[in-house]
Amino acid sequence: MWSKRSRSASSTAAGLGRGRRLWHSFTVRLSFYYASAFVISAALLFALLYFLQATLFDWRERDPIDKFLKQCVVAYQQHGSEGLFNAVKTQGADPREGPFFVSITFRKDLVLYLKEPSEWFKLPNLTSILQRSPQNGGWSRLPADDRSEYVLESAQLLDGPILQVGRKINRSETLTGPFVTAALILLVPTLLLAIIAGAVFAHRATAPVRQMLQTARSIINTGNLAERVPETQEQDELAELARQFNRVLEQNQRLIRGMREALDNVAHDLRSPLTRLRASAELALEADTPESSQEALADSVEESDRVLTMLNTLMDVTEAENGMMRLNLERCSLTSLLEEVTDLYQLIAEEKSIEIKSHFISPGYVEVDPNRMRQAFGNLLDNAVKYTPNGGLVEIECDNKDEEVVVTIRDNGMGIPPAEQNRIWDRLYRGDTSRSQRGLGLGLSLVKAVVEAHAGTISLRSEPGKGSEFIVTLAAAVAAGQPATVSSER
Ligand code: ADP
Repeated sequence: MWSKRSRSASSTAAGLGRGRRLWHSFTVRLSFYYASAFVISAALLFALLYFLQATLFDWRERDPIDKFLKQCVVAYQQHGSEGLFNAVKTQGADPREGPFFVSITFRKDLVLYLKEPSEWFKLPNLTSILQRSPQNGGWSRLPADDRSEYVLESAQLLDGPILQVGRKINRSETLTGPFVTAALILLVPTLLLAIIAGAVFAHRATAPVRQMLQTARSIINTGNLAERVPETQEQDELAELARQFNRVLEQNQRLIRGMREALDNVAHDLRSPLTRLRASAELALEADTPESSQEALADSVEESDRVLTMLNTLMDVTEAENGMMRLNLERCSLTSLLEEVTDLYQLIAEEKSIEIKSHFISPGYVEVDPNRMRQAFGNLLDNAVKYTPNGGLVEIECDNKDEEVVVTIRDNGMGIPPAEQNRIWDRLYRGDTSRSQRGLGLGLSLVKAVVEAHAGTISLRSEPGKGSEFIVTLAAAVAAGQPATVSSER
């Protein structure tokens, strides 16, 4: 007994749960709204038709009464009682209009004239009809039987008596009744049709949403980032949403792939310096004398600094290459930036008796992140001074060409062999002849990544023994006075 009751309770709960889940389905709710809108419109249309039909029917039934009353009033006004009797007598020639009930009463209880069709005799309370007739004109009605009723209109004659004209007519319900029944019968199939049509439309309309949901679920479950929503040629919002959804997935996939590669590269690139660091630390541990232990520890600190610099630069390069580097763009003059950078390297250049010459033909207004640009030009100038022998020359030029600002950093140093020219941009690449110089092999990869993150280009012209020329091209900023568009991220 108990188990039966608890079973039925749990099945009711399950049913409720299913119903709630069904209601949470967007398609089901949409079909319900469609069906409701359809049924409400149909009901309103039926109601309007019913009202129009009832009004028309009423007007058609009352019109002959009204016409005859007016005819009697005119006859009475023109020819007195004689005229009115004649009008009553001649009436009835048209069978569609008769027979009419006609009465003339004075002060309600005095009947001056009465003509009633035979069936009106059945009326039990004729006197009350006569007495109840409105003094100042108007309509009154009285039920005759199930299908018909008596309808009367009255008007006051010139010298005071009340003229009342009436007719037995079909009740409006006899005509409108079947209409209502038909409407109610039709409502059921209409409702069914509305639900089916609503469900079909809603199902079709929400198909792209379901596909997107399926794709998202599949990506979450399988981790396959290559999944895409099928695209159509339709121009509606849902088709556009599917296309944009795919673009977002593509971008995510690209970013995640870039991150993975970057992580692999960083892990690979850090292996050697970390091994060196470990070796120095081991040496410090095994050292016999405090001096040699101190020396090994100093090496470890130096190696750690290198690792840190390397890690930071690698992260910068990776971010810039994947379009994730935050750029605080502002309109600034490249020549001002170059002057600042030149000041920094002036001392090192003087130590090597290298002359740094600047030819700034135009201020070179650009929209860049000044800190990042200082870093990039600093690396180029550092290399130029580093790889140029004592007494050499480094030239910096800045000029506007068409819509671009071109910066050239030229030296008359050792130059780069053609075989290395493509490889110098790679991370951690160092030229064969440059190993004696300080460096990590990350300078040029950072320069390239930063310039490209600013939508610029960098190229190289170099001849071994004669020197190198690095050319950076950036889009010129809008002319002064015009608002510069600044975006914080790229
Ligand atoms: P690093 O200077 O730390 O070695 P970079 O990435 O800055 O690393 O440069 C990569 C390589 O390109 C250098 O090792 C060097 O061989 C070559 N290089 C860069 N700039 C110059 C230059 N101005 N003249 C000659 N060689 C250069």
